[in-house]
Amino acid sequence: RPPCRDEAGRLIVDLGAVAENWQRLGRMHPASRVGAVVKANAYGLGAERISPMLAEIGCREFFVAHLAEALVLKSLLPGSAALYVLNGLAPGSEALCAEARIIPVLNTLEQALDWAATARELGRTLPAALQVDTGMSRLGLSATELDHLMTMPDYTGSVTHHLLMTHMACADTPDAPANARQIERFRHFSNRLPGVPCSIANSAATLSLPSSAGHVLRPGLALYGVAPGPGMGADLQPAVSLEARIIQIRRIEAGTGVGYGLDYVAPGPRRIATISAGYADGWPRALSGKGGAVWFRGHRLPLVGRVSMDSCAADVTDVADHLIRPGDTVELIGPNQSVADLAQLLATTPHEILTGLGRRFARTYL
Ligand code: PLP
Repeated sequence: RPPCRDEAGRLIVDLGAVAENWQRLGRMHPASRVGAVVKANAYGLGAERISPMLAEIGCREFFVAHLAEALVLKSLLPGSAALYVLNGLAPGSEALCAEARIIPVLNTLEQALDWAATARELGRTLPAALQVDTGMSRLGLSATELDHLMTMPDYTGSVTHHLLMTHMACADTPDAPANARQIERFRHFSNRLPGVPCSIANSAATLSLPSSAGHVLRPGLALYGVAPGPGMGADLQPAVSLEARIIQIRRIEAGTGVGYGLDYVAPGPRRIATISAGYADGWPRALSGKGGAVWFRGHRLPLVGRVSMDSCAADVTDVADHLIRPGDTVELIGPNQSVADLAQLLATTPHEILTGLGRRFARTYL
């Protein structure tokens, strides 16, 4: 791997690993199609690189959250690929969506009726995905609303359903009773719309709730090689690493404080490296004082003091002076420390860590 040179750090994305993960999920579920959730710029990894690559190896269903994201991706995908807007459309943006041949996920009666009205204005039927709420109480129609919609000829004559979807609240806890409840409720909805392909499973459900597979899987995290929950996805290939440059190394005496608030006070003589990654790069400030570390050639370098906006500090005392220098790069995420490890340390989701990382660092694709 070439050195960072003058870059502060690099977010390295292994496209081959993303492809391998997509194919692996397909081998796990030969009766389903594997889609790709590429919202939030493919979780910060670069949707414009990842989506066309996945389309090339056969992915035909892509999911983003906002119409603006879909508009950017549309021209990069083959005409045969379906691009869905998970959060639905803001009133007034239907014509733009229809013109771009992007498919909205209809989450409310209002969205559904506005989409049908647009279809009638354009004089053609329009495709849509319908989302139903099976228990997460986030997005989607209730059973009563769906029944009502299906009695409206203005709607049913104007919109064709490409997907019936729902989202699982607890898939990362496979034993949670809510999972079976949601799958059972979904069955009632799908009986109402016979013949419409179903889509339920995010990464965690894809890996550990086979009964939720349906026709189209919607993994995000697993494509990027990150385990969605404890004990899941052990054979996924990590696709993301993060490295940053050491800007300066200083010797400090016992009693010297480090960083904002001088929270860390050296218990003895120490050598401290200042590293060019901070919370503006998505390297979480919450790591301060949490026992986090970075890695250098097999050495664990404990983080000390608070993470700043553009830098953090690590104790390099255990690495011989001549072996570590300003300009060297350290591993923040990689073979020694995964996104899932950091998420666990911070008691958050891997999604939150991952989506932050693409903010400022240059991305390098392997
Ligand atoms: N489907 C929906 C509706 C989502 O909101 C998300 C992501 O949050 C996913 C699928 C993919 O989830 P994951 O990244 O956990 O696979």
